[in-house]
Amino acid sequence: MSLIMVIEDEESIGILLKYNLEKEGYKVEIIDNGLKAVSEVERLKPSVIILDWMLPEISGVEICKLIRSKPDIKSIPIIMLTAKSQEEDKIKGLESGADDYVTKPFSIPELMARVKTNLRRAPIFEEKERFIIFKDISIDLVEKKVKRGENYIHLSPTEFRLLKMLAKEPGKVFSREVLLKSVWGENIFVESRTVDVHIRRLRSSLNKFGADYIRTVRAGGYSIDDKEDLENND
Ligand code: CA
Repeated sequence: MSLIMVIEDEESIGILLKYNLEKEGYKVEIIDNGLKAVSEVERLKPSVIILDWMLPEISGVEICKLIRSKPDIKSIPIIMLTAKSQEEDKIKGLESGADDYVTKPFSIPELMARVKTNLRRAPIFEEKERFIIFKDISIDLVEKKVKRGENYIHLSPTEFRLLKMLAKEPGKVFSREVLLKSVWGENIFVESRTVDVHIRRLRSSLNKFGADYIRTVRAGGYSIDDKEDLENND
C-alpha cells in the first residue's frame, strides 16, 4: 500500500483528496501547515506528494525546492496543485522541481490518473510494499513502526521482525526453527525457547489494544490469523 502525502491548507480540498485517494486504495497523510511539510516528508517518506502552490506560511515552490535539495527525499515525485494557470507560473513550478502540474479546479479522475503515473517513478524505498496490514494492525516497514487502531505499539527489533514475518502470510504456520533462522539468522545460536519468550512479549504488547491474533499451534509453531475456534494459549 503506497502512502500519498497531500500538502494543502484548505480543509475542504484535503478532505476531498483524502476520500478519493483512499477509495483508490492508498494510504493518505494530509499536512495543512507548510512549515511542517519538509520534516514530515523526511519522516514519512511518501511515494508521491500532492503539493499546493498557495500556502499561507511558505509557498509550494519553496517547499518543492527544499525537498529537491535533500538527498534522501529528492526523488519523490511531486504533483503541484494550483489555481495559477499562467504559462510562466507553470514554468516556474516545473523549474522548482515539480514533476507534474494540475490546475484548480481539477477533475478527480484526472488527478487520480496523474497520481498513478507518478507512482511508477516513486523512489526505491517505495518499490516494495511499504505497509503490511492485518485487521487493525498496521506495520510500517520504512519507519519500522506498528500501530493498532490509533495506538502506536513499541516493539523491540526482534519482536518487530517476528510480527512482520507472521503478518506477511496470515494463516501460515511457522515452526520455531524457521522463525529462528529468519528472524535471528542462520549462524546465531539460540534455543527455540527464545522464540516463545519473544512471542509472549509480542503478544502482550499487541493485545493491549485488541484481540489476540497470534495462534499457537501445538508442536507446530506460530501463525497470525483471526480464527476464533482455535486454542490460544501460550
Ligand atoms: Ca491553498
